[in-house]
Amino acid sequence: LFVCFEGGEGAGKSTQAKLLHDHLVELGREVVLTFEPGDTEVGRKVREIVLSPETGELAHETEALLYAADKAEHLRRVVRPALERGAVVITDRYVDSSLAYQGAGRALDADDLETMLRWATGDLRPHLTVLLDLEPSHGLTRFEERDRIEGEPLEFHRRVREEFLELAGRDPEHYLVQDAHGEVEEIAAKIRARVEELL
Ligand code: C5P
Repeated sequence: LFVCFEGGEGAGKSTQAKLLHDHLVELGREVVLTFEPGDTEVGRKVREIVLSPETGELAHETEALLYAADKAEHLRRVVRPALERGAVVITDRYVDSSLAYQGAGRALDADDLETMLRWATGDLRPHLTVLLDLEPSHGLTRFEERDRIEGEPLEFHRRVREEFLELAGRDPEHYLVQDAHGEVEEIAAKIRARVEELL
């Protein structure tokens, strides 16, 4: 089972991913909790390039390719091997983040991006994507220090949010759209219920 968490900054993805991980471990499952960008050796270097404010200007295409490189590595070294041995994989961000941030955010062509991402991931798709939806001005207030992307204007983050919702709306069977403004435990319970249907 392959589950992704998606959403904007400060929506609580990593908290909810961890809670789901702990719950499934309690049920006796092998669970791999992972994230993008940066959960491989090469990925850590890519993360440093794409997120450090010291990087300076990056062409949007370069940025998209770097995130895709992280994904290709992540897929082949972490996600696919774990799925092949029967583990549940929970990832904090995946393809939708690239479509939202580089596609809607940076205004790169969506079809080109989709083709490139399909190639980078071998078209491996999650069984379920949990979209934690939050008004961006809410999420961003949680950060004092901002990385290259968090420092983008609110308008950028609004486009990202709309794209996440658009992607979910196109394929409701594979998405849980969850309002992220509520109580952590209440949200976790809804996610657990949906995931348990898939086990
Ligand atoms: O989820 P996390 O905060 O670790 O993500 C790191 C940063 O990478 C975030 O600022 C997010 O906006 C950015 N990102 C991106 N494009 C992606 C994946 C992540 O801009 N494809």
